[in-house]
Amino acid sequence: VTKVLDYGELELLDSCSDDLAVVNAARVSLNAESTYEVSEYNKLKLSDKDAGLIHFLMRERHGTPFEHGYFRFRVKAPLFVFREWHRHRVGHSYNEWSARYSQLMEEFYIPEEILTQTGKPGAYKFEPINAGSNKIIKEELEKTYKMAYSEYLRMLSIGVAKQHARVILPVGIYSEMIWSCNPRSLMHFLGLRNSEQAQFEIREYAKAAEDIFAAIMPVTHAAFISNSRTAP
Ligand SMILES: Cc1cc2nc3c(=O)[nH]c(=O)nc-3n(C[C@H](O)[C@H](O)[C@H](O)COP(=O)(O)OP(=O)(O)OC[C@H]3O[C@@H](n4cnc5c(N)ncnc54)[C@H](O)[C@@H]3O)c2cc1C
Repeated sequence: VTKVLDYGELELLDSCSDDLAVVNAARVSLNAESTYEVSEYNKLKLSDKDAGLIHFLMRERHGTPFEHGYFRFRVKAPLFVFREWHRHRVGHSYNEWSARYSQLMEEFYIPEEILTQTGKPGAYKFEPINAGSNKIIKEELEKTYKMAYSEYLRMLSIGVAKQHARVILPVGIYSEMIWSCNPRSLMHFLGLRNSEQAQFEIREYAKAAEDIFAAIMPVTHAAFISNSRTAP
C-alpha cells in the first residue's frame, strides 16, 4: 500500500499485465508468438527484437495491443480528487463507497502547503503562501471540517437520511473506490495526471500508480517515456 497525501492510499489489488502480452497481441497478426528469454541473471526478459516492437507500436500509435491486460487498485482519496479522476472514461471502471448507504469517516484533507495563484487560466503560477497564513488557513480548514462533520453526525442522529446529511460535507473528505484500467488507458491517465499541468494532489496518486506500472511493464513504460509520455 502506498501512502498518499495525509490519509490517502493507493494499493494494487491485482494485475494481469506484462510486456509479452503486448508483443503477442501484435504478433498474432502474423500468426506468430514470442516467449521470454532467460537473462544472464536468470530472470525472464524480452528479446531486443520484441522490445523494439513495443517501441514501434508506441511510436506509430498502434494502441490496441496495449489493451490486453488490467490493473485493479483500491484508492482512498479526497472527493475533489475523485472528481478529476472520474473524468477518465475510456478503459476505466470505478466503484465507489456510497455515502447513501454508510456513514463517511471524519477524515479530511489538509494540504501540507497552501498555495497562492497568480496569472491567467492555463498559465497559472502557484507558490507557497507565507508561513503565517499557511498556519492560519490550515487551522481554519480544520475548524470548518469539524463543524461540518459534527452537523453531519447531528443530522444522522435525528434520523435524516444519509443521502441528505452528506450534502453538508466538504469536498476535502476522503472516500474510497476500486479502480480498474488497462495498460493503454492507464498510460493516457498518467500522461495527463502525472504531469506538471495536473493538480498536485491527483499527481501524487498518478506518481504512485506510475511506479507500479513501471515495475510490472518496464519495457512498455520505457516506450511510453520515450514517446513523450503520450499513450498510443
Ligand atoms: C490539467 C487538466 C485540466 C483540466 N481542466 C478541466 C476543466 O477545467 N474542466 C473540465 O470539464 N475538465 C477538465 N479536465 C478534464 C479533461 O477535460 C478530461 O475530461 C480528462 O483529462 C480525461 O481525458 P480524456 O477525455 O482524454 O480521457 P478519456 O475519457 O479516458 O478518453 C480517452 C480518449 O478517448 C477518446 N474519447 C473519449 N470520449 C470521447 C468522445 N465523447 N468523443 C470522441 N472521442 C472520445 C478521446 O481520444 C480521449 O482522449 C482537465 C484535465 C487536466 C489534465
